[in-house]
Amino acid sequence: MTSPIVRFAPSPTGRLHIGNARPALLNYLYARAHNGRFVLRFDDTDVARSSEEFAQAIEVDLAWLGVAPDMTLRQSQRVALYESAAAALREAGRLYPCYETAEELEKRRKLQQARGQPPIYDRAALRLSAEERARLEREGRRPHWRFRLEPGVVEWRDLVRGDCAIDCASLSDPVLLREDGSFLYTLPSVVDDIDLCITHVIRGEDHVTNTAVQIRLFQALAPGRHPPVFAHHNLLVGSGGEALSKRSGALSIGALREEGYEALAVAALAVLTGSSDSVHPIRSLDELAKEFDLAHLSRNAARFDPADLRPLTHRTLARLDYEDMRERLEAHEIVGFKAEPFWRAARGNLSAFSDVLDWWRVVEGEIAPRREDEELLAAALASLPREPWDETTWSAWTAGLKAKTGRKGKALFHPLRLALTGAENGPELSLLLPLIGHARAAARLAGG
Ligand code: GLU
Repeated sequence: MTSPIVRFAPSPTGRLHIGNARPALLNYLYARAHNGRFVLRFDDTDVARSSEEFAQAIEVDLAWLGVAPDMTLRQSQRVALYESAAAALREAGRLYPCYETAEELEKRRKLQQARGQPPIYDRAALRLSAEERARLEREGRRPHWRFRLEPGVVEWRDLVRGDCAIDCASLSDPVLLREDGSFLYTLPSVVDDIDLCITHVIRGEDHVTNTAVQIRLFQALAPGRHPPVFAHHNLLVGSGGEALSKRSGALSIGALREEGYEALAVAALAVLTGSSDSVHPIRSLDELAKEFDLAHLSRNAARFDPADLRPLTHRTLARLDYEDMRERLEAHEIVGFKAEPFWRAARGNLSAFSDVLDWWRVVEGEIAPRREDEELLAAALASLPREPWDETTWSAWTAGLKAKTGRKGKALFHPLRLALTGAENGPELSLLLPLIGHARAAARLAGG
């Protein structure tokens, strides 16, 4: 197989949210797993609703998720290509002008409905004579343009949904150009898929019904070439089954980032929800790419619960190695010989990455002392071993203290933990103690 070329094609009309991060990730994982390329294509031909700010915000969000495009392009800069494709279709008699207003079409649809007929465009415009068209133009009407569909059944083998078939008799000829000459989504999308040699179109199942039209358009514009392989994934819905909206800011990738969720947790949840794989923490997108297959996706809606993100973030951080985190730790000046053992000690105790700052303070900075059982703390200070310390120091020291003071279990460990860390719970003290070091430990036990 030649290496695949996939694309993620958001319209920059809002922030990226968890629902449209899903096709971004699925495309990216597919490219990674098959040594392919990933194109980011902004579908920004709707100038009124698209904005450069949204496009840039989407790029930032993708970068945060770890999705790195091999190429980025904007449809608004490629209009000449679409114009020439439209001209070729006109030439071939496949694109025809229609003059019906929206109200006229609506009226016709109502009539069809009343007669029990399907609401399919009746191609009345194809029957207009040249004089009739000229008269309509003189009246000031501007045409919109429809693609004349070839009849027959369009079939494809969908990587998620298996064998699919749509009878073109059930479809209206799609409008490709509006009255003002601007393009709707369909033609630019297919032209770009042809031009960029897209091999796989991976997108939400809300596009299944567009696929027959797009395959027909592909055949008209690139006869003899194979249309891309299609994969239509199930859509993420809220835990109550409701659709996720672009406008519901809470699930935007930016908001999730600000909440302190890990990108890898967001990615794992966005990809694995609604699949036969259980949602589990991942160490990298490459790891996920290796184990994931589009065929694992279910055909039912994928119920997504944002409440899962907190525990998943915790479990994700616990799995990450120092090398995975080095840069982020360095950015917080968690550096030096302690940094790596510190990360190993702390990683299982983080509900968000920013919690490391608190634990770093425990080993390298000042803490608010919390004292209980002065007698025990005095004995602990008196028997504190000399350095060098390692991960066995804690158990040797506390075994001696137990023998000396008769305290055990919580009565022994809790006052020590409080005095040494200022916190009720936290990382293993056997790992923390050597990082805290003799000088700090002694001062905290002494109450200084
Ligand atoms: N701009 C379209 C969307 O966001 C792209 C669909 C496609 O992938 O073909 O739904």
